[in-house]
Amino acid sequence: MSENIFETAQQQIKDACDKLKCKPAVYEILKQPMRVIEVAIPVKMDDGSTKVFMGYRSQHNDALGPAKGGFRFHPAVTADETKALSMWMTFKGAIVGLPYGGGKGGIACDPKQLSMREKEELTRGYIRAIAPFIGPEKDIPAPDVATNAQVMAWVMDEFSKITGYNAFGVVTGKPLILGGSEGREKATAMGCCIVIREAAAKLGIDIKGARIAIQGFGNAGSNLAAILHDMGAKIVAISDLRGGLYNPNGFNPYEVEKRDEAVQFKDESCAAKYPGTQFITSQELMTLDCDVLVPAAIENQITGKNAGSIKARIVAEAANGPTTPEGNDILINNGVFILPDILASAGGVTVSYFEWVQNLQNYYWTREEVMERLERKMVTAFKNVYNISQEYGVDMRTAAYMVGVKLLAEAMELRGWL
Ligand code: GLU
Repeated sequence: MSENIFETAQQQIKDACDKLKCKPAVYEILKQPMRVIEVAIPVKMDDGSTKVFMGYRSQHNDALGPAKGGFRFHPAVTADETKALSMWMTFKGAIVGLPYGGGKGGIACDPKQLSMREKEELTRGYIRAIAPFIGPEKDIPAPDVATNAQVMAWVMDEFSKITGYNAFGVVTGKPLILGGSEGREKATAMGCCIVIREAAAKLGIDIKGARIAIQGFGNAGSNLAAILHDMGAKIVAISDLRGGLYNPNGFNPYEVEKRDEAVQFKDESCAAKYPGTQFITSQELMTLDCDVLVPAAIENQITGKNAGSIKARIVAEAANGPTTPEGNDILINNGVFILPDILASAGGVTVSYFEWVQNLQNYYWTREEVMERLERKMVTAFKNVYNISQEYGVDMRTAAYMVGVKLLAEAMELRGWL
């Protein structure tokens, strides 16, 4: 079966359309993005040479509103990957009830090899190249893998230079001082923790003392560890791409410095710093004895090869597309409760939406207001997906797509597209 995530995304949408017996035009429209922009971005490097980077922005569907979604810096970025990620964003936004379509972007580069100045040049060049196609009413980028609030500040600044005024609403995930929202940085993790809590309650698992393994220690993974620890869960393992730490008795994630600052899970030596922990590889983490497994890194981590050995009762997909279709089928056959990416990782775009609303109104909310609204959105989304899964007797992933397809089909019908 396919590990091409574009084909995976198509299959997921097709399954939901079939279950809902939609008009064929629904799938015909949704099976690909409505627009894909490919740009070549020349950057003057620190050594005086000029290097050209390929960048993409995919806008999947705008039936419900302007395109919305992050952009990433990663060596594996391709047009196909960006297309699939934009398709997932359409559904992610729809199931939490946002007035958005899906968008996604990426630049093929290795951010670890770039200086701050080179990253800034690259970001500004990318925004200049896609500027005619983005904007607060058209398409609103945000952070994704290896892009952060500083990068979003450059996006806002570059776009504002083009428009001639401060266009805060063109991008979300900005620093607070530049129109960012309270709570945005932790939002993906917080949203995921809320749906883990809801799923645990349905399965009769007490979150206090529940054993959690988290793959990925970036923005989502590190904040997830901290929040779940605060909720009383036991963090038994964390890892980044190279490896990680395991302690069956749990450890305090606050003691583990954030990856980009000091933590390098590269070999046994990192475990020595944390008594009681042992070094594990990122793949070993997936099959540990635990209650909740959270893939919070990148695509295709749970596959036909390792899914059968997963012992967790809940898999909460904080990353986009961490499970291949083959891996998915095995988990379902084994009775694992999956919180699919388009639900479990929707907290980030939800608070991005709050940020955009605040930018459009020039009126800013408190952290409590943001968190309260996030809680409501995530709990409602979980209930809607869970209820569809019960009503149709389908797994949570299919149910999540069904919630999205229903809304999109209704909007497209009313707009006269079908
Ligand atoms: N990159 C995040 C995601 O995949 C956030 C997108 C956004 O805030 O627009 O959901």
